[in-house]
Amino acid sequence: MKFSDLGFSPNILEAINKAHYEKPYPIQIEAIPAILKNRDVLGIAQTGSGKTASYILPILEAIQKKEINKGRSIPVLIIVPTRELAAQVEDVIRVFSEHLPRKVKSMAVFGGVSINPQMMKLNGTDILVATPGRLLDLLSKNAISISDLNTLVLDEADKVLNLGFKEEVDEILSRLPKKRQNILFSATMEDSVALLIDKLLTDPVKIEI
Ligand code: AMP
Repeated sequence: MKFSDLGFSPNILEAINKAHYEKPYPIQIEAIPAILKNRDVLGIAQTGSGKTASYILPILEAIQKKEINKGRSIPVLIIVPTRELAAQVEDVIRVFSEHLPRKVKSMAVFGGVSINPQMMKLNGTDILVATPGRLLDLLSKNAISISDLNTLVLDEADKVLNLGFKEEVDEILSRLPKKRQNILFSATMEDSVALLIDKLLTDPVKIEI
């Protein structure tokens, strides 16, 4: 299996090539075509499996066809448990997006640092990578809107819940539009994750690596 068998346009294939990814990992072979078809996806996968690129690449493909974002409205939201993961996900976005003709604006926001510099840079963000608490702070300050969101990713959902962010996640979900694509990754399938999956995902493609 090659990246060119998965449904990408030439621009994305070139970006993959320039990032020196030679062959898709198993999770990418399964997740990429499903996400490109706008399906909801449930991935049970560990760090190191290549899960990040499995959702970032199809998201970048979709953004290539969109007009430049000028407002506060966020089209793609990636919720992560920690600042470290937020930074890692943003790195993966940058590795690919620097080679793409349609410029992609991504931002990572997390707590523990001052909110004002983050607020000033958010306008026109295509992909927001956020920890739950800081995301709610930004929403309450009207710095962003997620009511027109196209795609939600919840990465390391088990860790998000184990860190005590269930209420924050519920609050965030209540502010999203009904019609949207949902992608959830978790390393484990404990009960709390199963409940969230039931609430969040519609007829998902299930992938276990
Ligand atoms: P992740 O599981 O998303 O944290 O990815 C683990 C590591 O694998 C990261 O350093 C990625 O850059 C790398 N990686 C992901 N997919 C591929 C691929 N198809 N070819 C080469 N490296 C990859």
